Amino acid sequence: LHAEPRLSDDAVIAMAPRQAHYLGHVLRRQPGDRVRLFNATDGEWLVRIDALRKDRGSFVVEQQIRAPAPEPGPVLLFAPIKRDGTDLVVRMATELGAASLQPVMTERTNTARVNTERWVAIATEAAEQCERLSVPEIAEPVRLMDLLGTWDAERPLLAAIERAEQRGAAADIVHAWRARTDPGVQPGLLVGPEGGFSPGELDLLRTRSFVVPVSLGRLVLRAETACLAGLAGLVR
Ligand code: SAM
Repeated sequence: LHAEPRLSDDAVIAMAPRQAHYLGHVLRRQPGDRVRLFNATDGEWLVRIDALRKDRGSFVVEQQIRAPAPEPGPVLLFAPIKRDGTDLVVRMATELGAASLQPVMTERTNTARVNTERWVAIATEAAEQCERLSVPEIAEPVRLMDLLGTWDAERPLLAAIERAEQRGAAADIVHAWRARTDPGVQPGLLVGPEGGFSPGELDLLRTRSFVVPVSLGRLVLRAETACLAGLAGLVR
């Protein structure tokens, strides 16, 4: 389970209500049972359930079983879509190692609503399931224009564009880019909304030297499929 950073030998940690519910009602655990807690700062620790009631309880920290380690990954920048699609993107992007998720508002983005709390909850559950130590950061929404104005030009921004002139897998393009720049530099993957980028946005993307158009194949994918296909190509 993901826990706030405070894990150290013999520490007593209060359970979050969601953890108490999950351990007691879903997993049927009891005081004395052991579980694992983790976060990116402290690593992973074996803890003993000390007390467990309906929506509260506590753990006693016993021993570290995994040291903290950096978990570098790409940034996924995407136009929010309808709720089910976005939930899927957040969950799978976490499993595929995205370091952060950046909602991007484009001309044809048809939902302005970003429920950050819900995204954090989904990303936390996905991190628990796939055993990563870090939960991807969920950034505040940004307009595409503003994003392009502040992006670090040393960092490749792979723009998924159907029928892009530069064909090839995202992974090959990143590999070529890394040969020229610092191998530690993590790329961004930008995916447009259901209606695609507007002609004006496509022109704007073409003017930036750090934007690398990538094709994800000859077929037109749904936005959520494009997010997953692009990230899958970048997994290391
Ligand atoms: N309405 C657009 C059209 O019919 O041309 C399709 C947009 S598509 C549903 C949503 C987004 O997924 C696009 O903006 C693009 O970022 C990405 N995408 C979909 N298929 C792709 C492909 N084959 N290669 C690269 N990107 C793709």
